[in-house]
Amino acid sequence: MKKTKIIATYGPAIASASKVSELVTAGVNLFRVNCSHGTTLDFVKAADTIKSAVRKAQFPVGLLLDISGPKLRLERFEGKLPVKAGQRLKLTAGRTDLDKKVLAVNHPAIISSVRKGQKVYIDDGNLVFDVVGSGRGWVTLRAVNAGTIMSGKGINLPRTDIKIPTISDKDKEDIKTAIRVKADYIALSFVRSPADVVEARRIIESFGGDQKIIAKLEKRESVANLEKIIKESDGVMIARGDLGVEVPFAELPRLQKDIIRLANYQHKPVIVATQMLESMRFSPRATRAEVNDVATAVFDLTDAVMLSAETATGKYPVEAVKTMEQIITATESRMDRTDVPYEHHEVRSDITHSIAHAVSSYEHEKLVKVIFAFTTSGFTASLISNLMPPQPIIALTPNERVRSRLTLLRSVYPVTIDQPRSFDDMLATVEKVSERYRLTRSGEKAIITGGVPFGSTVPTNFMMIHEIGKKRRNVRRSKRK
Ligand code: PEP
Repeated sequence: MKKTKIIATYGPAIASASKVSELVTAGVNLFRVNCSHGTTLDFVKAADTIKSAVRKAQFPVGLLLDISGPKLRLERFEGKLPVKAGQRLKLTAGRTDLDKKVLAVNHPAIISSVRKGQKVYIDDGNLVFDVVGSGRGWVTLRAVNAGTIMSGKGINLPRTDIKIPTISDKDKEDIKTAIRVKADYIALSFVRSPADVVEARRIIESFGGDQKIIAKLEKRESVANLEKIIKESDGVMIARGDLGVEVPFAELPRLQKDIIRLANYQHKPVIVATQMLESMRFSPRATRAEVNDVATAVFDLTDAVMLSAETATGKYPVEAVKTMEQIITATESRMDRTDVPYEHHEVRSDITHSIAHAVSSYEHEKLVKVIFAFTTSGFTASLISNLMPPQPIIALTPNERVRSRLTLLRSVYPVTIDQPRSFDDMLATVEKVSERYRLTRSGEKAIITGGVPFGSTVPTNFMMIHEIGKKRRNVRRSKRK
């Protein structure tokens, strides 16, 4: 069982229950629906297709709705606009006119904020322009490089502070949709400050939702506010597409390591996203550099790696997932305790932390095959996940919502159970789950951890090492007597 999870972005390339199932079999743990493309109806249909397809999966598969936030982009248009280096075109707050090389933008503030001499980046920085002139409601750009501008592509203005709210009316509609389709996570794009996350949580709760918030780190301001944003969120995504335009891209590898370490330290799941297997949009085989990129994210101790266009619109979505799964499995099989640096862990002196530390100790590496964590809120499972034990963690919870959410956490495989009422009940549950999911053989050892008295809301306060099949063998023996 791999530890690092795979997120696949839903899109036309996998828009059927059978394709979604194929991806799950290949190794996907969560699907992402990107609200930057499509209508409410499309998002509901996507969620329905995913939910119906994953119902029979061995372990639960999570659902994440990615809210566009204050994404600066071109308005949609028919066709495409090829540009040559040195060519001029206009951005307008009005309407697109391709023949006149005029492109409309989705926020008028873009036009009023940029200044002559600044740079404008389009399509994750694939096209770079200098601002060479401006007037009422328009700016003139000169292309630095050649390329083709496609409809609806993103715009980045890394040095420009644009005053637009983080959560728009469209985002609020998308949040309502996320609640309606019972998404596990809502990813919030272009987070700039912890206050953005607080506001998103207030809105989610005001609509009656309980979705966890993933803050997408893709703005210069978010890098400046890293620790506080991580603290306020339930997890973070290193959205390298926009981040690599907003900050000098050579800083990305260091930033990735720093963000993962900070998120691990705060016990928050972290996702590494974008262009992980980019060439597989068009090719059945990854480049060696991409293989290294996925492996690096695993070595960096991310919780999940994400595929975007590779699965949404690519020609080889299943192959991309299989490739990722192979890289993760091969990398993890060569990792040992020296790959888990001490500074990734927060040491707190309370009972739950102490138990989690004991459970996660590499001292049990040879003795213990699997960890069973009874968890009500998911907290214990997340704590153990972040301490990165060598074994898989089977999170046993009576709560369906908690169960689906745990799909994102490193090493955690959630299973729904009936709340045990006694010690014997607990052992019977472990035995049953172990057998059903073929996790251990008779005689192998498992760690069991949870909180007693059973059924109460006490935090985790015990761990034991259990020999699988032992209880049943004892029962059989005493029956024989
Ligand atoms: C990114 O920019 O890397 C990202 C994940 O966001 P989106 O796909 O919404 O542009």
